[in-house]
Amino acid sequence: MSEKPQPERVLYCAVCSLPAEYCEFGADFEACKPWILQNAPELYPDLVREANKKNVDKVSNKLESVGISSSRNNAKLTAEASSAGASEPKQEVKRLPGGKIKKKLKQEVVIEKIVRNKRKCVTVVKGLDLFGVKLSDASKKLGKKFATGASVVKGPTDKEQIDVQGDIFYDIVEFITNTWPDVPGNAIYFIEDGRKVVAV
Ligand SMILES: [Zn+2]
Repeated sequence: MSEKPQPERVLYCAVCSLPAEYCEFGADFEACKPWILQNAPELYPDLVREANKKNVDKVSNKLESVGISSSRNNAKLTAEASSAGASEPKQEVKRLPGGKIKKKLKQEVVIEKIVRNKRKCVTVVKGLDLFGVKLSDASKKLGKKFATGASVVKGPTDKEQIDVQGDIFYDIVEFITNTWPDVPGNAIYFIEDGRKVVAV
């Protein structure tokens, strides 16, 4: 009495076309692995174990990174919450690229006399623009009033100022307050010997 012949049931690998149990002897076992895991995992238990381990690693890595980022977020939130809850008012300070703190520009006109060489003197007027005065217009008026050259130039800090040729120090305040009533006299300063003094 012979055994009933088992129907032949050979699974052929779709990648290397060998019977699946011979994949490991094929040309490229690595290429077969995904197919094996999908279609014939029982033939390669080691492969399955390896794959499971990899997945576990992946998942735990993922969990770890999630854990890290969420704890970072928590730290940030905590910092924000504590700064928001602090009683000190938040100061609006802008930091310039050099790390200097940019102060809000005080609304004032600063007039400085600069002697360029022994004879030539320039009166520099800064800040009229802070009172809504158009500098090109002011420059023309100053030049006309004092019969001299006046021009809008960029100062050392890149802010525009008016350079008036000649020493007009002692007439200029009255002219400014008369011409531009929006500029109060007590907002006009002279720079004298490096010190800032109120002009009136
Ligand atoms: Zn194969």
